[in-house]
Amino acid sequence: HTTAAQARSAELEELIGKDPGRFRVLTGDRPTGRLHLGHYFGTLHNRVRLQDLGVETFVLVADYQVLTDRDIAEHLTEHVEQLVLDYLAIGIDPERSTIFAHSAVPELNQLLLPFLSLVSVSELNRNPTVKDEIAHSRQAAVSGLMFTYPVHQAADILFCKADLVPVGQDQLPHLEITRTVARRFNDRYAQGTPVFPEPEALLSPAPLLLGTDGTKMSKSRGNAIALSADADETARLIRGAKTDAERHITYDPAARPEVSSLVLLAALCEGVEPRAVAEEIGDGGAAALKKRVTESVNTYLAPIRARRAAYAEDRCLVRDALRAGNERARAVAATTLQEVRSAMNAHY
Ligand code: ATP
Ligand code: MG
Repeated sequence: HTTAAQARSAELEELIGKDPGRFRVLTGDRPTGRLHLGHYFGTLHNRVRLQDLGVETFVLVADYQVLTDRDIAEHLTEHVEQLVLDYLAIGIDPERSTIFAHSAVPELNQLLLPFLSLVSVSELNRNPTVKDEIAHSRQAAVSGLMFTYPVHQAADILFCKADLVPVGQDQLPHLEITRTVARRFNDRYAQGTPVFPEPEALLSPAPLLLGTDGTKMSKSRGNAIALSADADETARLIRGAKTDAERHITYDPAARPEVSSLVLLAALCEGVEPRAVAEEIGDGGAAALKKRVTESVNTYLAPIRARRAAYAEDRCLVRDALRAGNERARAVAATTLQEVRSAMNAHY
């Protein structure tokens, strides 16, 4: 799946380069904690790049999706503020991109109802990402929202008719569900003039960055290096990262996932090939590797961290960005919902 999606991403990059105005992007994140390097190299860097190329971009603060596996009241406002600060610090520009929250766009959420009718329980059951997340969840029971959240994500993407979704590898099964929903809606209700596009995933060169424990770097797994961590915290986290017993450093993601993920991280920050980094470290072992990664990450993130600290001084910045984005998103969602109602013959 990933290999095919990577090949398609390379083709998409060419099309975007030729005509960025043809595309519309939607992506988002759950406000469950600070953004980390997995987000950054998996999707955030692509978002900023696309925005800067002139692709129309929507960025979703997926607050309702927090409810899938935890209590929404738990630090929500603070998490939303931190998330938007992260966006602004990495270069998402609220003048050009629409930053908005689920809870502020009821018309988007209303799409969930017809969309749920278009997928079967066994299709939802087969989703490997949901299975993995359930396995890592702290909740004993699986909620209905957890089980159906990929369909909610279809509403997130389709409400604004996005056709391009810069995401990490874990999102590929969800994107398949979105494509299925779009196709079935068009087939069932809108023959001739499709209402929805069939959106495609855009993968980055790091579609699955591992955390310090060697599993997917995740906000909720305690294995992440946050963009907003300071230089000392970053050094400490990288020092504690899992490696392996072999001293000679190589780049071989299949055989040596933990070491290779660290090598890749340094390479991404330095803008060089991971193999070159591995060769330079050679017999230096894990200690030299970790020193190199720490320096590269801290150098790369220094300007982002400085911007973040400056923006954090101005509380209105986040609030204004969200207020403007929510309003724009609501207008778009209302138009789409109207089209959906009319395609479904709800003319009353
Ligand atoms: P949570 O633990 O709360 O689910 P998360 O760290 O998994 O948080 P999400 O908000 O679920 O983050 O994911 C947001 C986006 O970041 C998605 O597009 C996802 O594919 C991408 N992403 C998350 N973690 C990684 C990673 N380790 N490598 C590459 N991309 C990632
Ligand atoms: Mg996640």
